[in-house]
This record gives sequence, structure tokens and C-alpha cells, in this order.
Amino acid sequence: MQINRSAGLVWRGDERNGRRGFLTTISAGAALLTFPRCAAAQFWGRRKLGVALCGLGGYSLGQLGPALRLTQNCKLRGVVTGSPEKGALWAKSYGFSSTNIYHYDQMVELAGNPDIDIVYVVTPNALHARHVIAAAKARKHVICEKPMAVSVAECDAMLAACRANNVKLSIGYRLQFEPHYEELKRHAREKDWGAFARMSGGHSYVMKQPQWRAERKLAGGGPLMDIGIYTIQAACMAAGDVAAVAVTANERPKQRPEFFRDIEETIEWTMEFADGARGDFSTSYNDTLNRFRAEAAKGWMEFDPAYSYAGGVKVLTQAGPLDLVVPPSQQAVQIDDFARCVRDDAQSRVAGEMGRRDMAIIEAIYASAAQGGKRIEIKT
Ligand code: NAD
Repeated sequence: MQINRSAGLVWRGDERNGRRGFLTTISAGAALLTFPRCAAAQFWGRRKLGVALCGLGGYSLGQLGPALRLTQNCKLRGVVTGSPEKGALWAKSYGFSSTNIYHYDQMVELAGNPDIDIVYVVTPNALHARHVIAAAKARKHVICEKPMAVSVAECDAMLAACRANNVKLSIGYRLQFEPHYEELKRHAREKDWGAFARMSGGHSYVMKQPQWRAERKLAGGGPLMDIGIYTIQAACMAAGDVAAVAVTANERPKQRPEFFRDIEETIEWTMEFADGARGDFSTSYNDTLNRFRAEAAKGWMEFDPAYSYAGGVKVLTQAGPLDLVVPPSQQAVQIDDFARCVRDDAQSRVAGEMGRRDMAIIEAIYASAAQGGKRIEIKT
């Protein structure tokens, strides 16, 4: 059971076992006593940008809301939700006006609201495209949770809408800001150990409760879309500037076909990079794995756990453990960086184009598995 307190709102849920939970309230006093606010007011004398969370489920409640209390460059000033009651609870807890509570069907009205600069889309995967495009049409910058969408065609439509409305789009790839992954990227860039030529690992957990993640209509696919994408991200970070060029994949027979009716339960895949590097990976909703390993001629890094936020990432290298100072919230760093990019008109390191790249890899993996493990070149 995980309990996150954020001055009035409490999420009680177990993320690994279905991420289902419930929202309840505690007194603001109790919340402040246990988890004092560490909101920093400083923003170089300038106004903090306003963020609206679109989708108030487990990730918003447990991570993104609390992260927005820590951010320096932006703060939570609104929500988009199907539940006005939930919206009112959030408004009270985060101290924003009830006029900044929108229904999904009212996103066009965000256009007239100067409080909101950025919309953060945190709905089920198959709704990302609709909500990102609606936010862009309201001329709001957008952060979209992973996976960016459920097809490359949707990614293209989202990128086009953001371009047409002159707004920025980034993906919620929090690990791109995590210090151990920064170190992986540094080795990949500087090649001080040589290039990472061999990679392995994967991301799995045992899904116990029925939920949208197990329905193709809302999830777009199975564990590959949801958690395997972290391994794809890690592999691309280890490859540095070198592109993934081809994949081969194999879906394992289902042990619980009645539970995973129209999505894969387990899939294994190999990624080939343009410099000859290779990675062998897997992801499953019926296994336990949270690992990534990258090997070069003169050194290696093993991440285990590799993708966590609660408890963080742990890394071993040939020289021993890599103990880096980590920020209290990966999400706060990620969101703050995007607000800085908006403010300074800078390019995000997790721009929509990266989400599209990963979706092209995912489509190639599914295509290979559907064709019995045929080698499929990744279309860029
Ligand atoms: P969740 O099920 O807890 O919340 C989903 C929210 O979407 C709920 O508030 C729900 O009411 C709302 N919603 C709107 N329309 C809906 C519909 N038609 N059907 C079902 N729900 C609908 O899910 P979550 O764990 O918060 O995940 C949301 C997104 O965030 C997903 O894309 C997921 O991949 C992503 N996520 C990212 C991370 C990360 O570490 N980056 C972690 C968890 C989730």
C-alpha cells in the first residue's frame, strides 16, 4: 500500500497491483504536519507558469500533483476532469479557483484562461491524442504522458496540431532527467568506455486487477506500450546519437488468456542499432523484472531497479555502486525543465519527436511479432 499525502488529498493504492486506489481527504493540518510543503517561491522575480492536469487518476494524485508543489518555474492552477467533485477537491487542496476546473469536453475554453500556460495530459493512452490536440488548439503548451499515443499516425497528428498552434510538446519521460541516466548518456556521448555494444533487460510486473491497461481500446497494446517503453528509452539513451534501425520480436504464449484477451501478456524483442550494437529485452504483465544493463569494451552499467520513482534507481558498474544524489521528485525536475523551455523558448530534451520515435519502434516490434519474428526495419 502506498500512501501519498499532499495537503488534503490522499491516494491509497498499490501501483504494481493494478494502480487502483481511492481518493480521500485528510485535514490540511495533518498533511502539513507529516509532509511539510517545500514550495519554493523564487522564479527570478517572474510569474510561475500555470499548469492544468488533464486526468486526475493515480499518477496525477500520487506523483504529479505533489511534484507541482516542488516546482520552481510552474505551479498547479487548474484541472481537466470528468468529475466536478474531484476537481473541487483538487482546487481546495492546491488553492486554485474553481473557475479553473474544466470537463474534457470543455477544453476549447482553456483558450481564454490566462492562468493556464501548460496542459499535462495524464489520461489512458488511447485518449492522449484527443486531449493533446484539444490543448494545442486552445494554444496551450503540452506535456503528454508516455506512451505519446497508440500509433505513429496519431503522433504525427499531435505534432502537426502543436506546430500549427505554435505550442511546444514534450513527453513525460522522467528518467531522461534522472542522474544515473544522465551518467549513462554521458558515457554514450563521450565513449570513455567505448560505445555500449551489448544491452539487455526488461520491465515486468504481475497485473492482478482488471483495468484499462489490459484493454486494447484504451491502452493501445499491452506491457510493451505501458512499461516496455522504459526499456526502449534506456536502450536509446545508451545508444546516444546512434539510431535503432531494426527489431525482431516474439510474443510468448499467454498463461492467463482470459485476463489478457486482446493484448500481449509477454513479448521479447531484439533491437539493432546503426553501429552494430544490440539489445535483448522483454516485458510482461505476468512476471517480475526491473532491470537494464549496458556493456561497452571498458565498462558496464547495470540498473536494478531501473525504472522506479518510489525508492529510485540503483546502479552497479564494474567499479562498484554508483551512488549519485537524486532529487526528491523525478517528476518535479521533468516538469520544471519543460516550464523553463516554454519560458526561454528552448527545445525540450523530451520533445514530441522522441515520443514519435519510440512509437515507431513499438509499431515495428508488434509488426515483427505478428509476422512470426521477421526482422523489421524501423521507419523513421
Ligand atoms: P489511472 O487509471 O489511475 O487514471 C486515469 C485517469 O483518466 C482517471 O482519472 C480517469 O478518470 C481518467 N479517464 C478519462 N477518460 C477515461 C476513460 N474513457 N476511461 C478510463 N479513464 C478515463 O491511470 P494512471 O496510472 O494515472 O495513468 C495515466 C497515464 O499516465 C497513462 O498514460 C500512463 O501510461 C501514464 N503514467 C505514467 C507514469 C510515469 O512514471 N511516467 C506512471 C503512471 C502512469
